[in-house]
Amino acid sequence: MLKPSTYESLISFTPAPKHLWPNVSDAEWNDSKWQLKNRINSLAALEDKMHLTSEERAGVLLAGNKLAMSVTPQFFSIIDTENPHCPIRRQVIPRMEEAWTAPEELSDPCGEDKHMPVPGLVHRYPDRVLFLVTDRCASYCRYCTRSRVVSGVGDQHLEIQLEAVFQYLERTPQVRDVLLSGGDPLLLSDERLERILSRLHAIPHIQFIRIGSRIPIFLPQRITPSLCEMLRKFHPLFISIHTNHPHEITTEVQAALNRLADAGIPMGNQSVLLKGVNDNPEVMRALIHKLLICRVRPYYLYQCDLIQGSTHLRTPLGRGIEIMEQLRGHTTGYGIPQYVIDGPNGGGKIPLNPEYIVSQQHGRVILRNYKKEIYEYPDPSPIPPQVLEALHEQTTSVI
Ligand SMILES: *Cc1c(COP(=O)(O)O)cnc(C)c1O
Ligand code: SF4
Repeated sequence: MLKPSTYESLISFTPAPKHLWPNVSDAEWNDSKWQLKNRINSLAALEDKMHLTSEERAGVLLAGNKLAMSVTPQFFSIIDTENPHCPIRRQVIPRMEEAWTAPEELSDPCGEDKHMPVPGLVHRYPDRVLFLVTDRCASYCRYCTRSRVVSGVGDQHLEIQLEAVFQYLERTPQVRDVLLSGGDPLLLSDERLERILSRLHAIPHIQFIRIGSRIPIFLPQRITPSLCEMLRKFHPLFISIHTNHPHEITTEVQAALNRLADAGIPMGNQSVLLKGVNDNPEVMRALIHKLLICRVRPYYLYQCDLIQGSTHLRTPLGRGIEIMEQLRGHTTGYGIPQYVIDGPNGGGKIPLNPEYIVSQQHGRVILRNYKKEIYEYPDPSPIPPQVLEALHEQTTSVI
């Protein structure tokens, strides 16, 4: 357990320190184009800003042909460059261990490629689809489930045929929910995104559009008032953000989330459970509290997929269950995400929960609560016939 004072430091909102870019004006810092142009994406740029451990240096040299390295100044500046175990650093700086593929690891761990009726569209569940609209992100997460296609340097290329996807959706009336993902859809220009959203919005059976994005965290500067004005034309539109550690939610991120919430966009958060990042109930509790303050409802906590080179970031399933155990009952129910694992090879999301049913037999269910106290809930048994008869007689006499 962390000391109570640690919770105080995890829950506070502070601006990205910008100390590594001392000569940059606020106007530049707050400009998403400046942020994108000044991303850290080479060993030289990285070593200019921080001292790497030998594991990281080897990681940068070995990782380049799998998933590119790229980190926005906004996200980079919250790295603790003095701490080799910094949880922010582990998410975006490659490590040597990435070069090892364990026997169980897969390039397409969720079996998405085999569920694509049209390139770029994953149709796994009956009524909803995942629409991959770009292969680029503002920064790259080392544990990315889609690293086989994301960033443009891997073996596989993401083929996107927008028109073919629109036509498939138009002729597939069971699809009522479209989730835009990638890559990061909010990296597209307002114009391109608006063209995609308008086209989807015009399909009568599509009731609901969602966007999955890490831009509010990696590049909050991109969440401009004009983007929010555009998005609000397509309600009901939800956004799923992706954040893993409370330090990621800086005051810039909070302001961006406020702009989205003020545009009437309901938001959920998806976290990935990562070793050395957030595999700790205190960190998770501070994260979900910060999200609630920002009007974001924690949605899913994902078990890390069996992505190639992820052994050093994956935790045993029991760790996730323990964390969920420490949340339910101990904090606001709205803050509790559903812990899920994406069934390897295409099983879809499978919920994982601590066991609250102790036993169930002879019509008696024995339960335990969050404090491990035992309660019994008897299943309903039929009302005895003589009671029903007596009730009938009473009613007759009333009449
Ligand atoms: C996660 C996912 C969805 C959305 O699932 P929800 O549980 O409704 O959020 C849809 N399609 C695919 C392929 C997914 O992986
Ligand atoms: S933002 Fe999402 S798609 Fe992009 S690298 Fe991270 S996990 Fe992958």
